[in-house]
Amino acid sequence: MKAADIRSTFLNYFESKGHQIVASSPVVPGDDPTLLFTNAGMNQFKDVFLGFDKRPYSRAATAQKCIRAGGKHNDLENVGYTARHHTFFEMLGNFSFGDYFKQDAIKYAWELLTEVFKLPADKLWATVYAEDDEAYEIWTKEIGLPAERVVRIGDNKGARYASDNFWMMGDTGPCGPCSEIFYDFGPSIAGGPPGSPDEDGDRYTEVWNNVFMQFNRRIDENGNYVMDPLPKPSVDTGMGLERLARVLQNVATNYDIDLFVNLMAAAKREVEAAGGQDVDKDSPSLKAIADHIRACSFTIADGVVPSNEGRGYVLRRIARRAIRHGYKLGARTPFFYKLVDALTAEMGKAYPELVAKQRRVTEVLKQEEERFFLTIANGMEILEAALVTLAQAGGKVLDGELAFKLHDTYGFPLDLTADVLRERGLAVDEAGFNAAMNRQREQARAAGKFKMAQGLEYSGVPTDFKGYEKIWVEDAKVAALYVD
Ligand code: ATP
Ligand code: MG
Ligand code: MG
Ligand code: MG
Repeated sequence: MKAADIRSTFLNYFESKGHQIVASSPVVPGDDPTLLFTNAGMNQFKDVFLGFDKRPYSRAATAQKCIRAGGKHNDLENVGYTARHHTFFEMLGNFSFGDYFKQDAIKYAWELLTEVFKLPADKLWATVYAEDDEAYEIWTKEIGLPAERVVRIGDNKGARYASDNFWMMGDTGPCGPCSEIFYDFGPSIAGGPPGSPDEDGDRYTEVWNNVFMQFNRRIDENGNYVMDPLPKPSVDTGMGLERLARVLQNVATNYDIDLFVNLMAAAKREVEAAGGQDVDKDSPSLKAIADHIRACSFTIADGVVPSNEGRGYVLRRIARRAIRHGYKLGARTPFFYKLVDALTAEMGKAYPELVAKQRRVTEVLKQEEERFFLTIANGMEILEAALVTLAQAGGKVLDGELAFKLHDTYGFPLDLTADVLRERGLAVDEAGFNAAMNRQREQARAAGKFKMAQGLEYSGVPTDFKGYEKIWVEDAKVAALYVD
């Protein structure tokens, strides 16, 4: 089944169960300062869950454009390395606003997966929140899933990769216990079942999360986090379209599904046209490029432009990371922006904004790429030289000062440098990087004060422009927030 059919089958199923089909909201959230990019289907319904907004329906279903490249849900570093993570992906979701709750949610999910999509029941696992006896009973007694495939998992807060069955949109907002459904791809792929120490592999892949929305997490007058019950218990679910396609098309990774085949081929072709030779069609770098063109294009189509702060900086980080991967594969001239056409051909039907903004997206990316190609070779040369010195000294951690110089003078976002190092089993001294960034900020502030004392207007922009692309003082403060 093609991704386009999976999307429509999902929506049609929930429509037949009384759900209103609602269009995806943009990847840039409307007026939610707590959120950098839309990271889940529930975002556009946040106020409905909180009881501040009323809709003429109590059930909805969506295919939502999501970006997870910063903030609480950040998968940037996973891309290319796991079979299942993207920075941009489509989340299929059904929602109940104070209508049905756990029992119906689980029943719908099970029926859709096993009867409509016809997944073999014996390959499916479920997790529930450790204390959620109700969900546990529904799975074991009503659905009849054997107890050895229903796993209780707590809220492993802070554990980067470990399963966490208490879902939160961010540090604040609607949240609640959840129940996740996993598919077992079999022993040819490494990884353990959910809740086991090696659950991070791709063998058991989480396909669907059913969140039982019950609380609003907020900061009270004393600055502490508190959880208030929501006006009505609700349901919020999310299933990665690309992950379900991987299951239904029975392919090794998300990058082998129909939505990605042409994009991967186009990435290989353009990288080779720009100087790469015999690029391995499955290389992690090619996957990163194919992933990142989606994130960059959808972000620009929804109004973001590369910059040194906030959303624009996330976009810049993703674009430059993709360009560096192309450079690694041998590209020496701009190639990335040329993938916009292949992406538009693939996804323009489902997302007409790609067609409407095709020229603008191409132009914005082309400019960004031309700028970065001016400095990438010199930056890489400096980095390579530093790595030789580091290896000679037997070190494992790159000096933060150098990482800052790469950032400040050559336009290398910290995560780009970290990505290069990671490929060689090395790391970067982030504390040193931040110290260098702070020092520069202080210096610029002092320079600003000095100018003010002279009666000149202080614009917040230092005038000692040294590098090709200096990160401005105030912007750097914001940008630093997203270098995580
Ligand atoms: P994982 O544990 O695999 O990182 P998650 O628990 O962070 O996934 P949720 O926040 O529960 O994911 O999101 C709901 C669903 O969205 C997931 O079950 C999965 O199918 C899909 N999904 C989440 N993150 C990604 C991603 N980075 N790329 C593709 N699909 C994703
Ligand atoms: Mg995750
Ligand atoms: Mg998970
Ligand atoms: Mg999950």
